[in-house]
Amino acid sequence: MAEQISTPNLAQLPPEMLDFTLLKTTGALAPRLGRLSIPGRKTILTPVFLGNSSRGTIPHISQDNFRKSIGLNGLYMALEDFVEKHPQKTPPIFQLDAPDPLRQFNSIPNETLVVLGARRQPPIYSPIANTNTEVGLLTSVGYKSISSDYYAAAARKLHPDIVIGLADIPFGQESVGLKRKDKMSDRTEVWTRDIIAKRDGIDKGEPRYNIFAPILPIDRDLQSWYLEHLVDDMISKISGVAIYDAYLLDDLPEELHHLPRLSFHAPASPQEILRQVSLGMDIFTIPFVSDATDAGIALDFTFPAPTTTTSPTRQTLGVDMWQESHAISVTPLSASCTCYACTKHHRAYIQHLLAAKEMLGWVLIQIHNHAVLDAFFVGIRTSIANGTFDRDVAAFEAFYEPTLPEKTGRGPRVRGYQFQAEEHGKPEKKNPKAWKKDIEEKKLKGEKVKLMAAHGQQPNRKKEVQDVIDDEALIGLVDLQGVDVVELENIKIEDDKS
Ligand SMILES: [Zn+2]
Repeated sequence: MAEQISTPNLAQLPPEMLDFTLLKTTGALAPRLGRLSIPGRKTILTPVFLGNSSRGTIPHISQDNFRKSIGLNGLYMALEDFVEKHPQKTPPIFQLDAPDPLRQFNSIPNETLVVLGARRQPPIYSPIANTNTEVGLLTSVGYKSISSDYYAAAARKLHPDIVIGLADIPFGQESVGLKRKDKMSDRTEVWTRDIIAKRDGIDKGEPRYNIFAPILPIDRDLQSWYLEHLVDDMISKISGVAIYDAYLLDDLPEELHHLPRLSFHAPASPQEILRQVSLGMDIFTIPFVSDATDAGIALDFTFPAPTTTTSPTRQTLGVDMWQESHAISVTPLSASCTCYACTKHHRAYIQHLLAAKEMLGWVLIQIHNHAVLDAFFVGIRTSIANGTFDRDVAAFEAFYEPTLPEKTGRGPRVRGYQFQAEEHGKPEKKNPKAWKKDIEEKKLKGEKVKLMAAHGQQPNRKKEVQDVIDDEALIGLVDLQGVDVVELENIKIEDDKS
């Protein structure tokens, strides 16, 4: 049975107030349809996905293409993309004298909903640990901590529509102890209370923002203190929840069920999106779209899945445009797609662009991939409305392969923030040098590793760096014959400062 829930009329709400109406829901852990409205922005039907921005833009998409070819109703942005490492420098975005700096700095259309969080999605492991008062970020120029005060001041200055409250989550840590989990709950409670107080302290007439409270990826028992306070004291002050573990939705207190749910649990495949929708998730950021684009993979799936197939095997979720079989193919990326890339260009041209490392190749695939996902969510909403969602999910899982195709080709230049969280911030090099591996093997076998001072090398005169050798300089110094021998263990290797 569909249940209708009424909410106040938009006209009665203060100008920045978010209104979320559940249009259809059948229970606690069930797919639901909703409508999210903020005055001045396009009304959004949920389930839906937001564009996942990087440094203020959707990767590969210029502002004119954002308007013409992508058609996104909302955008997720991270503060860490805009702040500077050095506290004495005022980030340019804060110097902008405009009524709506975040929007104007990034040329975001007025009708687009803007959500601001502290960290990118997915966040990269930060070697700066969170403290009771600060959260570690990875800015475009290095790691930095920001306080709850700084975050609230930034939100006030930048004027996004929705702000995700600061959450104390040690991203990238494989296991988190019980004591640390207690801290997560305590700190998040303080920070959520703090941003609500700061937002409520904004003068009348100055624009305010809506707050989504983070729900931590730990068991309910471990964040019960925080959740109780959220329900008892803060519920009327928050407009939504940000969920970091979709599979703990069962633990969400019932009092919070009417609020829109934004998922920060990054799905790895369309099947995982469907699983989260089936648990009642409303809004998504989907990093795999841009990851597929960077890998030259054109997504190719529809929901519900096609009902007729001549193939006995499951269909792929994407087409690897690096495959040479496309070199003379004049068919579009996807036969059923009506996006700009599919109506104007064919596979042979797009593959040629990739092979030539021409940026337009990734632009066209990105436009297409967003169109595929947009149609996917339209299909999800129709299916929920029709009451056929569970059946359609089963058919989708039977029709398509469970994972996206593996990356084969080379993508565009990789930037620091694109490294996977687990690979980043660790002392090891991303591409360990062969000679270093050789040394490690020798060490393991108990062999002595010799280091020779090369011909012509002058000892460094500065005392503090006398024993420091840049690892690049070590290349060629190992196993040279006939020069002085130094044991490697006694030499400190200076790692990259970057
Ligand atoms: Zn297309």
